[in-house]
Amino acid sequence: MKDFHMHSCFSADSDAPMEAMIQAAIARGLSEICFTEHIDFHHPDMEFLVDMPAYIRTLETYKSQYKDKILIHTGIELGIEPNNLSDSLAFYREYRSAVSFWIGSCHVFDGGDPYDRDFFSRMPASQVYRDYFDGVLYLVEHFPYADTYGHLDYVMRFDPSPEKYSLDAFSSQIDAILSAIIRQNRALELNTGSYRNGLNHPHPNWPVIHRYIELGGTWVTTGSDAHTPKDIASHFPLLYKNVSSLDLKIL
Ligand SMILES: [Zn+2]
Ligand SMILES: [Zn+2]
Repeated sequence: MKDFHMHSCFSADSDAPMEAMIQAAIARGLSEICFTEHIDFHHPDMEFLVDMPAYIRTLETYKSQYKDKILIHTGIELGIEPNNLSDSLAFYREYRSAVSFWIGSCHVFDGGDPYDRDFFSRMPASQVYRDYFDGVLYLVEHFPYADTYGHLDYVMRFDPSPEKYSLDAFSSQIDAILSAIIRQNRALELNTGSYRNGLNHPHPNWPVIHRYIELGGTWVTTGSDAHTPKDIASHFPLLYKNVSSLDLKIL
């Protein structure tokens, strides 16, 4: 199993020592992991930047120290929105050889991150989803360099209604997003952070994953979005069991 979405204390929202994350991944029997620290330029609520020289240097040390036990990759989760596109593209150009794996994510839309803003009490749920999927479409169309696109329906974890969203209601946006990922020969991330946020399926939800397959998508990545050692590979046995019955390849 491979956990290709995890954060350590190099991310602004994690206190986890990198070595503790690596040791937990080994204890869980993972063959490969990728640290994907947060960069979100001009995030309105928090500064999501990474000390890149220290990050790369520290990872190189652990890669060689643990090379007989686990394969470790250097990744970045880059949050894209119209306000930060030019800085994000410049950052990508600067680090594309040093960083081997890129997650493109949409965290900020309508001027904020649903983690910090209560969008669902301020506007109709249909508008929140529409605006969020517009943000994801902007991401996939303007940043076609991500190896995988992260937690495609992230916003639903903040939706207090039990119904959440239906694929049918947003099918034109979701089809456009999935088609762009497929056309660009990129991967769709299956993110299990959802289960830790009270959902009983990955991000994105199964109907979106099935639609991805229907449209011709093949490649997926698996990520726990762990910010602490205990969450590494969370719900992976369930996810891998479900994925094994589908026509998908794990990058
Ligand atoms: Zn994220
Ligand atoms: Zn993340």
